[in-house]
Amino acid sequence: EDKRYTVYAAPMEARPTGSALVVLSDVTRMRKMEQMRSEFVSNVTHELKTPLTSIRGSIELLKSADRDEETRRYFYDVLDIETDRLTHLIDDLLVLSQIENAKDDPSMRPCNVKEALEACVERAKSLGQENHVRMHIDADPELYVACTPTRLQQLFGNLIDNAVKYNVKDGSVFITAQRQRQTAVVRVKDTGIGIAKEHFPRLFERFYRVDTSRSREIGGTGLGLSIVKHLVALYGGEIGVESEPGKGTAFTICLPLAPKEKEK
Ligand code: ADP
Repeated sequence: EDKRYTVYAAPMEARPTGSALVVLSDVTRMRKMEQMRSEFVSNVTHELKTPLTSIRGSIELLKSADRDEETRRYFYDVLDIETDRLTHLIDDLLVLSQIENAKDDPSMRPCNVKEALEACVERAKSLGQENHVRMHIDADPELYVACTPTRLQQLFGNLIDNAVKYNVKDGSVFITAQRQRQTAVVRVKDTGIGIAKEHFPRLFERFYRVDTSRSREIGGTGLGLSIVKHLVALYGGEIGVESEPGKGTAFTICLPLAPKEKEK
């Protein structure tokens, strides 16, 4: 049962005459949630089945004795890629289930924004090699936000990985972090393929992809931006997106500043 759900907004005697409407709209909401849940399960099932089918197929082909070395190596690579895909998907699902209904984060502490960004850039380097995508950081070293360090890196990492993945050959990613009053403003801007405006309303939904075949090929789980959205909400921040197809995209995140002295 979802605890956030109240069927009756007020006690019996306090309820206005129109209270039946409240109940009705709650039923509608409940149906909608039920529908979203079953959509989610069917999406997850599909996402799990696709790599499993490739894995099963590769094993069958490897079993037959008459495969030459090159063919074998090809199918071992498929096994590698598809098990990686499953691992990422399961990791992302786990993260999402931990954060999506969380009201607070008991293990949060002041984290340095610049250090988190640098760690993410380091990890995204291998993604950018093929397309020669360059990453640039210009961050205030004195910014601290209250988070769990691994969560902060998931938040930044998902945006930076996307900025590299959906980029063009010899493209760039510009990452900035600066103080604005009591918030840290982090901006990840790329010179990539861009996102048409009509996708904005659904962009942060689980498993929503602008270009399904391209995104699958690039290797995303379709959960990255959904994780970003929930983390930003968990830490009391805000997120915005601007984009122009063929020019690039910029995600901007504002997170409340934490006093640096509290660093453990
Ligand atoms: P995925 O794992 O497919 O990358 P995400 O949730 O991270 O899933 O992103 C959802 C979709 O949004 C992507 O499939 C892609 O189509 C689009 N997208 C995300 N970031 C960018 C970006 N920086 N430039 C262009 N498209 C993007």
